[in-house]
Amino acid sequence: MLQKTQSWQQELAEGFNNIAEICKYLNITLETAKYIEHSPNFPVRVPREFVDRMRKGDLNDPLLKQILPTKKESLNTPGYTYDPVGDLASMTESSVIHKYFGRVLLITTGSCAINCRYCFRRNFPYNDFQLSTKKHQKAINYIATHQDISEVILSGGDPLLLSDQKLIALIKKIESIPHIKRIRIHSRIPIVLPHRITDELCDKLSNIEKDLILVVHSNHSNELNEKVKIACQRLKSAHITLLNQAVLLKGINDKAEQLCTLHEKLFTFQVMPYYLHLLDKATGTAHFEVSHHDGIKLMNQIKAILPGYLVPKLVTEQAGAANKIVIA
Ligand SMILES: *Cc1c(COP(=O)(O)O)cnc(C)c1O
Ligand code: SF4
Repeated sequence: MLQKTQSWQQELAEGFNNIAEICKYLNITLETAKYIEHSPNFPVRVPREFVDRMRKGDLNDPLLKQILPTKKESLNTPGYTYDPVGDLASMTESSVIHKYFGRVLLITTGSCAINCRYCFRRNFPYNDFQLSTKKHQKAINYIATHQDISEVILSGGDPLLLSDQKLIALIKKIESIPHIKRIRIHSRIPIVLPHRITDELCDKLSNIEKDLILVVHSNHSNELNEKVKIACQRLKSAHITLLNQAVLLKGINDKAEQLCTLHEKLFTFQVMPYYLHLLDKATGTAHFEVSHHDGIKLMNQIKAILPGYLVPKLVTEQAGAANKIVIA
């Protein structure tokens, strides 16, 4: 019998986009007073196969908590702003964010496969900055005329939402600039939509001569299943360096045991730890905050358990700083 296989584009299109549907699927009854049903500026968005990794009937599931919009998002908390890391101030007119020496960040698309409620870009005016073909050329020109740039980071949104054709064309253009040594992709897609990592894509990526680094984003070991492992293996076969960045999130991964399990499991997927971020203070995310003090305490606990190479750097971002600030 012929087996029906779904393309990743189909899978993406058929993802969940409302909480009532998700709760029904997970056998959860919500106290409607505590949740936001419609949030037009940052809607619910999550691939089905990510929801499949959540525990049925458990409102405290660490994956569910990352995507469920609660009324706490409407709170205005002092110290929380719309552009906490100063990206807008550093944005050139070509969608290039040039904040740090030697590397630039390129906004490739405004959307993601999943909308994480704690995201610092949740309030970002993407529509004003999306990389149209014209901007795309402007960005390339900007990079080409700045000799001090040695690394280009494709970010978003999620750059792996681009079609293979668009993504590879962009990478090839960047690759052709002589002073660029490395190309980095920041993407949560290998974790949340692993079918996107097709053999065809990896074949094309393996033909890129310059060093490729893919920084994935996983916060909890429950996110890591066999499909994610296969995606990581394919990427490794294309000689791509795999790193992980996580965000420290209250009630989700703020126990030493959870962080240890996450990084040990990532290692079995050939993914090395990079950063553990303290929450960026974006309006509507205060309920996820783990304090600086508790972050340091946690780091001391995990350092006492894990080998050094499995310990991420705890970092925070300060608007205007020349780099991310390493706390521990
Ligand atoms: C995080 C970030 C980078 C990359 O910083 P690294 O410390 O090299 O990972 C570059 N540009 C911007 C705007 C960033 O936010
Ligand atoms: S995948 Fe990354 S950029 Fe997209 S919503 Fe989640 S945290 Fe934000």
